Amino acid sequence: MILIDGKATAAAIRAELKEEAEKYKEVCGRAPGLAVVLVGDDPASQVYVRMKSRACDELGLHHRQYDKPADTPQDELEDLIQALNQDPQIDGILVQLPLPKGLDSQRILDMIDPDKDVDGFHPVNVGRLSQGAPCFEPCTPAGCIELLRRYNLPTAGKKAVVVGRSNIVGKPLAMMLTRGGDYANATVTVCHSRTPDLGAEIRQADFIFAAVGVPKLIKADMVKEGAVIIDVGINRTDEGLVGDCDFEDVKDKVSAITPVPGGVGPMTIAMLMKNTVTSFKKRMRVGEFEAKLKWEK
Ligand code: NAD
Repeated sequence: MILIDGKATAAAIRAELKEEAEKYKEVCGRAPGLAVVLVGDDPASQVYVRMKSRACDELGLHHRQYDKPADTPQDELEDLIQALNQDPQIDGILVQLPLPKGLDSQRILDMIDPDKDVDGFHPVNVGRLSQGAPCFEPCTPAGCIELLRRYNLPTAGKKAVVVGRSNIVGKPLAMMLTRGGDYANATVTVCHSRTPDLGAEIRQADFIFAAVGVPKLIKADMVKEGAVIIDVGINRTDEGLVGDCDFEDVKDKVSAITPVPGGVGPMTIAMLMKNTVTSFKKRMRVGEFEAKLKWEK
């Protein structure tokens, strides 16, 4: 059984990005920039934002954090997003969700310039993803696919079951798995809370992607021998953090599995960093510059 080490993979991606960012900083005169907007005092959101700031520091990215009280008016946040859209130092804008009650999250997300939408939640990026066009991919599903790529576990021609249909994980993941490519081209079934016989669906799968939020929902008797499990779930329980799969129960039946914690979790921030560096490169036309250098040689 292969234990898919998301922590080590994410660290390797961050190291690659750090090298890239340092190189481009010298050439372009500025580092890639990420702006994070945090509204209210939700403790989990504060932890996530801190982790993102730490990752930016590690990579040498420029980052700015905007801490706003929970009663910030909608129009003040919209003005902030408009200003960040125009800000030449900022390549990525992230609004930490969930926003406090009373704020229209969708309206705020929709205002982010799609070319700075490093979370990949803007309808333009969602649309591009559904068309198979280049876009910012949402970080958690992108992290799942990147793990498959780095562990050489191609899904092409295989049966995949995605459990969960949220806009941030399940739905985009299903879209990524159905498009072309080695780590795609799967035959995908999406299950959700109204799926009558979850076990019967999952048992068909060569690849199981769990994004549910129910601790240890998936047991060995629901899993085909030799299946690969990518467990996105992060559930706080009395025994600590656990995934949506019962790791101890399934581990001898699968060919590869992500642990919780240390699986998909660390990949999300690594992919956010990757999207920010990609946005910077697009904005600074790094590709054209590199092509010119090659040409001049
Ligand atoms: P969500 O609550 O938005 O969606 C859960 C989905 O699971 C829904 O589509 C629902 O229909 C489905 N569902 C619920 N109960 C079910 C059942 N009994 N059988 C089948 N389907 C069922 O959740 P989300 O935001 O997609 O997150 C899912 C899990 O992934 C959570 O544990 C969350 O903490 C975790 N998560 C992890 C990361 C990460 O960075 N690793 C990122 C986002 C979410």
